[in-house]
Amino acid sequence: MPPKKPEIAAETIDLQACEARLQTVQAEIAQAALAAGRAATEVTLLAVSKTKSAALIQAFLDLGVRHFGENRVQEAAQKWPELRAGNQIELHLIGPLQSNKVKQAVDVFDVIQTLDREKLARALAQHKEAEGFPKLYIQVNSGAEPQKSGVLVEDLPAFLDFCADLGLEIAGLMSIPPLDEPAGPHFELLAALAARHKLANVSMGMSGDFATAIGFGATHVRVGTALFGAREAV
Ligand SMILES: *Cc1c(COP(=O)(O)O)cnc(C)c1O
Repeated sequence: MPPKKPEIAAETIDLQACEARLQTVQAEIAQAALAAGRAATEVTLLAVSKTKSAALIQAFLDLGVRHFGENRVQEAAQKWPELRAGNQIELHLIGPLQSNKVKQAVDVFDVIQTLDREKLARALAQHKEAEGFPKLYIQVNSGAEPQKSGVLVEDLPAFLDFCADLGLEIAGLMSIPPLDEPAGPHFELLAALAARHKLANVSMGMSGDFATAIGFGATHVRVGTALFGAREAV
């Protein structure tokens, strides 16, 4: 008898569950916007699809989601060229970017939210004439956490000047507040910084706190678990 071929278990995707989760998140966004006196259309839902399979992402594409976030350049470069074909996708990089991956990131992403240091700004500036050069947000380390990426609040004005001198246009700010503190004050601070520097986009709020972030003026909420379900530990 020929040896039995190992079977690759086809991933079963519960479309109804995906749709229900999407509707729940969209309803919560609309509710939070209404409560804040904002239009729901001012808030973009970024579906954070890191670690998730192309098949599961496709289910959300089929449901009409067009804005996605990934946190690894390599993973996104593998998954997205095929997924985005024929669709008007906006793909955001929300994880750390190494300067040796800048070329690839510029090719793959429409928005890079994690510009956080001079070396990276210089590397990005080398590609600024490239067709489809991404929009850039600066990541702010509002909690001044040593282990976290991001520009310190007090360093932001100088870093904005540094980027301007390189000819880099900055379109927004992004932050990940400390886990062990109430997020509200951090959201409020990020929105105030964006307003002060006339930056239109404010990326803040995740599955656990996106409604709070919308209350403080988030224009982009980054939602993974609440849409796709829990991620495996990595
Ligand atoms: C993973 C991730 C998210 C999404 O987190 P959830 O809690 O799953 O919604 C948002 N922002 C960043 C930067 C992330 O890495």
